[in-house]
Amino acid sequence: MSVDIAANLKRVRDEINSACLRAGRDPRSVTLIAVSKTHPADIVLQAIAANAMHLGENRVEEAETKIPLVKQAIPKPVTWHMIGHLQSRKAKDAAALFDVIHSVDTLKLGEKLSRHMEELGRTIDIMMEINVSGEVNKYGIAAHDWQTNAETRLALFDSARQFARLPGIRLVGLMTMAPIVNDMQETRPVFASLAQLRDALQLEIGSALPQLSMGMTDDYPVAIEEGATLVRIGRAIFGARTTQ
Ligand SMILES: *Cc1c(COP(=O)(O)O)cnc(C)c1O
Repeated sequence: MSVDIAANLKRVRDEINSACLRAGRDPRSVTLIAVSKTHPADIVLQAIAANAMHLGENRVEEAETKIPLVKQAIPKPVTWHMIGHLQSRKAKDAAALFDVIHSVDTLKLGEKLSRHMEELGRTIDIMMEINVSGEVNKYGIAAHDWQTNAETRLALFDSARQFARLPGIRLVGLMTMAPIVNDMQETRPVFASLAQLRDALQLEIGSALPQLSMGMTDDYPVAIEEGATLVRIGRAIFGARTTQ
């Protein structure tokens, strides 16, 4: 069964435009990340041919073989986003491979990335991954009660301040994953909470956090209505995954 990636991308882009229209937002304020995890380089190239300029991967090992293959095959540069859980011991490899890391969830990881980026003489954009839903099986800095619990709030403010101070990494925003639900409207409070937390953190650290990475195949229209600037979409573009 073949998947028409160009047609799927068009459908997703149309849906993004509609969500922006509903929310009174400029469609150019939303970046589509095509999540190519589990799919081989030749499939990624099909997406790039259909003008996908941002690609997302969730495993360093997989990206290590795929990204160089894709880079060899195309003249135009694309932006690579690391969206999956990143162990500190893989920080060095991730720093060399990716342009943006969405899933920074410990200070230790931030510090390692900072050190490796300094060695590479570059700066990388990072986001703090936030566990807004409070699900125990989710990665991310704990934040489900940040609006009511001062301790949680102070810990988050403190983390943001520390990330913002590290050289070689640039804290540009927050990332979250919503719970899996039947009706995408149920995800709205999670996305709204992340947007409010971003506003609070901006005030606290005194610098802009423009990016909100939220929204996947099952919920991105709602995420956009709540302010997403980066949507991470796999299945709606590449079809169902057979692994993972
Ligand atoms: C796989 C993945 C996505 C994309 O999921 P789909 O449901 O296929 O759109 C988004 N974000 C993260 C962190 C992922 O691991």
